[in-house]
Amino acid sequence: MVMKEKLTEKIARLEEEVKILRRDAIHDYLTGLKTRAYFEKVLELYFVKKEDSQRKTCPLVEEVSLIFFDIDNFKKINDTYGHSTGDSVLKEISKIILENIRENDIAARWGGEEIVVCLPGAIKEDASIKAEIIRKKILKNPIENIPVTVSAGVSSKDSCDPIDELFREADEALYEAKRSGKNKVVCAPAKNRTWI
Ligand code: GH3
Ligand code: MG
Ligand code: MG
Repeated sequence: MVMKEKLTEKIARLEEEVKILRRDAIHDYLTGLKTRAYFEKVLELYFVKKEDSQRKTCPLVEEVSLIFFDIDNFKKINDTYGHSTGDSVLKEISKIILENIRENDIAARWGGEEIVVCLPGAIKEDASIKAEIIRKKILKNPIENIPVTVSAGVSSKDSCDPIDELFREADEALYEAKRSGKNKVVCAPAKNRTWI
């Protein structure tokens, strides 16, 4: 009887460990955001594969928007206040982003101080408004008394468009936000249009 109880306890403990391993595999340890690998896998599911698009029955097409956030002058924050304060800034910004997105949106740590958010079903204008709300919240909430700003690039595609274009356009928009002075949101232009 005692043996059986012990075995049940062991199974429960192992199940708990598996749960934690599963959680850790898809979450960034510092920020609690999703990992980049998880994000890329899930995003692929939203996009129609080439072979599917050639079929007679048309799969459900919806708009998918992407926001790339990048902390402005983060190296300087680290250099001035120390790496562990930099970590706190990164955690706090991640928290603000998570608090301001919908349940179906996915936020992941893309790398270093860059965070990506996918908004399935959101048009570019809505994603841009969301990015602007988050930018302002970060601006108005100095973290550990340090004024922190972020820049953001926004793009949007139909789920039957090439996924690479979604990333490329968001990346270019972020680059433009940095180039034109930082602490701003830039939307990828519609074809043959200039930056807005
Ligand atoms: P920009 O406004 O152009 O984005 O400039 P930046 O200084 O933010 O960008 P840069 O690429 O020059 O520096 C990014 C810094 O982010 C350098 C790196 O040490 C720091 N960093 C990356 N990951 C972490 C992290 O996990 N914790 C901390 N504290 N710093 C990190
Ligand atoms: Mg930066
Ligand atoms: Mg960067």
